[in-house]
Amino acid sequence: MFPVMLQMAGQSCLVVGGGGVAYRKILGLLAENAQVTVVAPDVVPGVAVLADDGRIVLELRPYAAGEGAEYVLVFAATDDRGVNRRVFEDASGAGVWVNVADDPELCTFHLPAVIRRGALHVALASGGTAPFAIRRMRRMLERWFGPEWGEWLDAAARFRERVRGLGVSSVCRETLFDGYFENSVDLETHHVRVPTDREELELLEQLGDGGTGRSAEKPAIGDRIEAVGPGMVSLVGAGPGNPGLLTLLGYRRLMAADAVVYDRLAASALPCDLPREIELHSVGKSAGRHPVPQEEISAMLIRLSRQGKRVVRLKGGDPFVFGRGSEEAEALVVAGLPFEVVPGVTSGIAGPAWAGIPVTHRREAVRVTFLTAHECEKDSTQIRWDLLAQDPSSTVVAYMGMKALPGMVKKLLGAGMDPETPAAVVERGTTSAQRSVISTLSDLPEAARRAGIGPPALIVIGKTVGHAKRLDWAARRPLVGRRILVKRGTSWAEPLECAGAEVVAITLPLTPAAHVVLEALPLTDVVVASREEVEALDLVRGGIGWGPDVTALCVGPETLKRAREFGWNRVELAEIEVACDELVEQLAEHSVRVD
Ligand code: SAH
Repeated sequence: MFPVMLQMAGQSCLVVGGGGVAYRKILGLLAENAQVTVVAPDVVPGVAVLADDGRIVLELRPYAAGEGAEYVLVFAATDDRGVNRRVFEDASGAGVWVNVADDPELCTFHLPAVIRRGALHVALASGGTAPFAIRRMRRMLERWFGPEWGEWLDAAARFRERVRGLGVSSVCRETLFDGYFENSVDLETHHVRVPTDREELELLEQLGDGGTGRSAEKPAIGDRIEAVGPGMVSLVGAGPGNPGLLTLLGYRRLMAADAVVYDRLAASALPCDLPREIELHSVGKSAGRHPVPQEEISAMLIRLSRQGKRVVRLKGGDPFVFGRGSEEAEALVVAGLPFEVVPGVTSGIAGPAWAGIPVTHRREAVRVTFLTAHECEKDSTQIRWDLLAQDPSSTVVAYMGMKALPGMVKKLLGAGMDPETPAAVVERGTTSAQRSVISTLSDLPEAARRAGIGPPALIVIGKTVGHAKRLDWAARRPLVGRRILVKRGTSWAEPLECAGAEVVAITLPLTPAAHVVLEALPLTDVVVASREEVEALDLVRGGIGWGPDVTALCVGPETLKRAREFGWNRVELAEIEVACDELVEQLAEHSVRVD
């Protein structure tokens, strides 16, 4: 393999195939200003739009034998290996470079994985033999080469011009370049820093010291660039699921992390602007996957921490409330590793609050008991049902209890608790998917069953549940139940949130964390404000979390036109010319799903 970087501006390329893989290749080529011809009998909407815009030449027909000879590069990305093989044979026979997607045997060149930081391109390749390894290495190196490397390279290019302008000997030049590198790159930590103009001048002045460019008193680079400390684990509570209920400290720890190890219940609280270089490790249960066993999670924390990384262990709610956070902390103590706990808003308080249930109330409930209801299934004596049943001045909040609910109610009634005691279940509290059922102790299991309530849900028993009807503030807001994607920094993000929507505020291009957040719960609406946003979001449309019923409100006719061109299902012009109130009203007019 002989690596090269091709100058593609104005060069003609052929892409055979019009599906998603071909689309991504086309976008990559257009970004380098190549001239692209696409041959395919049918294409995804994104490709059709590029053709309508005159950005590519599209020929809607099957590939014809012998094509490709007059191009510089040829790509095949069809799902027919026969066609792919013909394209390969035609092109390679004519001496044209050819790449067939996912088929290393039919490639005369491979596309490397690339880390781009401004003019800096770091390319990684395995000759097509182990793309999985390359993807992981890229993630590893992305951490190493942060965005500051792009700025640093630009500054290095400017320094080079400055030095060339001096007209000094090549030996002098190299000495100056060595000095520049040593001053701005920390070889231990891989941090870089753009030297100040003054520092550059100092370097240039050293030309006078015998041409060595070195002076004895120059401070070591380690003194100037903050060194990475030893690894550190922060056990951070993500809150109950609503992204706004993550604490400020938790947010700061996440943004400064090297690696984040998160649970399923914590996924929706991940900041969408989490830097893409940060490693993300999911250890929760998700479709078709079992959760990672507790010992493995602890081992992972220890391993990452020993690599010198700042690790955030992100857990739903509060890490020390039924979250096994204390077991992870114990494992870190045994391993002799430093850790901290960043408490979170526990669902046992926030879920009821979002359903209008205060867990304490003067003279009604002066105690709160948090318990895990599945203990009662094990015939445990740890929970004194008799005492709870005889304590009308307290609120009982049960976690992990949906399966145990009938048994738990039976025990409480058997111990003499008033069957008319107000009781509730709250499912997915504080999120757009929240549902609650308010009933009495004796009727609760049947009411919850009828409503089809499933985990994660909380059971709340006690007089204060009686306030739910009057204090049901969240359910009264016009955009309750809505999960709305917006671009971060837009003026409508906050009004939508105040109107009760769960707002997913993304940056473009989407970060890996934003993908996790998008997949955590279904979206109901999207507000897009430019053609570029439509184009970028089209790549995730139809994925998990973005179903066919999602409505797109488009700001401006151009945005609307673009969304229609891309075949988006439900599109409308957004009414926000004057104030955001109109947008809230417009969204509120859409029927709300009643599950
Ligand atoms: N550490 C978490 C609890 C983890 S145990 C906390 O402090 O909230 C998992 C249980 O928490 C679930 O079975 C459910 O009972 C409860 N839970 C977590 N998030 C919830 C939510 N948003 N709504 C309702 N219950 C929730």
